[in-house]
This record gives sequence, structure tokens and C-alpha cells, in this order.
Amino acid sequence: MTESHSRVAIVTGAGRGIGATVAKRLAADGFAVALLDLNEDGVRQGAEAIVAGGGKAIGVGLDVSDAEQVDTAVTRVADELGPPTVLINNAGITRDNLLFKMTEQDWDSVLGVHLKGSFLMTRAAQKYMTEQGWGRIVNLSSVSALGNRGQVNYSAAKAGMQGFTKTLAIELGKFGVTANAIAPGFIATDMTAATAERVGMDFETFKKAAAEQIPVRRVGEPEDIAHLASFLVSEGAGFISGQVIYAAGGPRD
Ligand code: NAD
Repeated sequence: MTESHSRVAIVTGAGRGIGATVAKRLAADGFAVALLDLNEDGVRQGAEAIVAGGGKAIGVGLDVSDAEQVDTAVTRVADELGPPTVLINNAGITRDNLLFKMTEQDWDSVLGVHLKGSFLMTRAAQKYMTEQGWGRIVNLSSVSALGNRGQVNYSAAKAGMQGFTKTLAIELGKFGVTANAIAPGFIATDMTAATAERVGMDFETFKKAAAEQIPVRRVGEPEDIAHLASFLVSEGAGFISGQVIYAAGGPRD
């Protein structure tokens, strides 16, 4: 194992929640980190905090579902931090509704951010990884990939992320690039807080009810996902590729 490749990571959806925590963790692991998000203020602040702590980071505003913005952002990362070799496709949204009430817009926007966004980001970043002969791609799937009432769009997108990951692993393996998916269960973030609000529940009560259904009897925290991402992008994880790892406090299939 050599460490001659560049150590530059891109994390999408890094303006808050899981992405912000993953970015912080990868910076602590020694990566220069590009935090990308629609929320430009969020990523600017996140990058400033990393730099203040002695790390290297930049924040870039973009919409991951826009090809031109993606290409511009990835080129900027390569120019300012060096060739990106780690990509965490984490940006995500929910537009939950039962099938009969779901609009085309709800469908298109969820598929657009998760699937098209990950495709565009990966297409732009893979060129640097293959040139470096080393790369790590981590895609955020979800337990919802297995089916979840009110989430026909999100569950299709998150199941799609699994097929996408496996195909990346097959195509990019010979270039020293691995691709894996993390499928989280309930993680306490603004996304799950919004779900609690939508169903008319106080977030603490909502988390307590969720924890009762989880074998380890607690909900997940963004750090639980950051820990796994840190492992998957590590030097030693090079023989693990095309896997979907459920981080849900218990088994899933
Ligand atoms: P979050 O809503 O807190 O953060 C998502 C971030 O993505 C936000 O900062 C948002 O601005 C950004 N984003 C949304 N659309 C974007 C776009 N078009 N371009 C760029 N950035 C965009 O969500 P989270 O809970 O931190 O979730 C992160 C990822 O993990 C998502 O892919 C989500 O589907 C997945 N996930 C979350 C949970 C959970 O329980 N929280 C469970 C399983 C999977």
C-alpha cells in the first residue's frame, strides 16, 4: 500500500447533518475536504471551522443535479485542493407522500438529487481517481431502499443507489477505485426532525419511539455514519467494494 496519491475528499450535502459530520471526520483523518451543498453559507462555515481547527477545507455552493455546476465545482476543488480521490455522495432530500398523492415534481426532484446528482458527481470525480490510480466512493443509500410507506420516490432512489454502487465497483475496480454504499437507519438530523414535524410529533418523542424498535435501543447519530465512512475511505479498505452496509443498530436484509 502506498500513500503517493492525493488525499482530497469531496462531501456533498455537507451543509449540515450527516454530510457536515463526515466532512469534519475526514478532515480529522488528514484529508483536505471540499464541502459542497446548495446551502453555501452552511458549507462556508463548515470549511472555516475545519480550517480554524488546523485542517484544510473549502466550501462550494452547488446543485448536484445540475451538470454544469457539478463540473465547475469539481474542477475548482482540483485547482484549489488537488485531485479529488474520495467522493461521498450524501446530498439528499425527501418529498414524502402516498403514491396516489405524489406529484411528478416530488418524483423528479428526489430522483434528481440522489441518483442524477450522484451520477454527475461521480462522472466528474472519477477522472481524477483513475488518473491517480486510487479512489474511494461512498454513496448514501438508506434502509428505505427495502421499502417504506410514503416514500415510493425516496425508496426507489435509495435502491437505485445500491445498483449504481455495485456497477461503479465493477467498472472502476481495475483503476484502484472502490465504491460502497452506506444504508443508514434512523439518524437524528434535520431530515428526521422534519419527518417528526410532518407527522405532528415532538422530535424527542419521535426519537424515543424509533429507538424502541431498534435492537441497540437508540437512534443513530451522524457520527455513527462518519465512523463507517472513515473506514470505507481508508487505505486498508481497498479489498471491500460493491458492498451495501446497513448502519441501523440491528440487522436488515
Ligand atoms: P439533511 O437534510 O440534514 O442534509 C442534507 C443536505 O443535502 C442539506 O444540507 C441540503 O442542503 C443538501 N442538499 C439537498 N439537495 C441538494 C442539492 N440538489 N445539491 C446540493 N446539496 C443538496 O439530511 P441528512 O439526514 O444529513 O441526510 C444525508 C444523507 O443521508 C441523505 O442522502 C439522506 O437521504 C441519507 N439518509 C439519512 C437518514 C436519516 O435518518 N437522517 C437515513 C438514511 C439515509
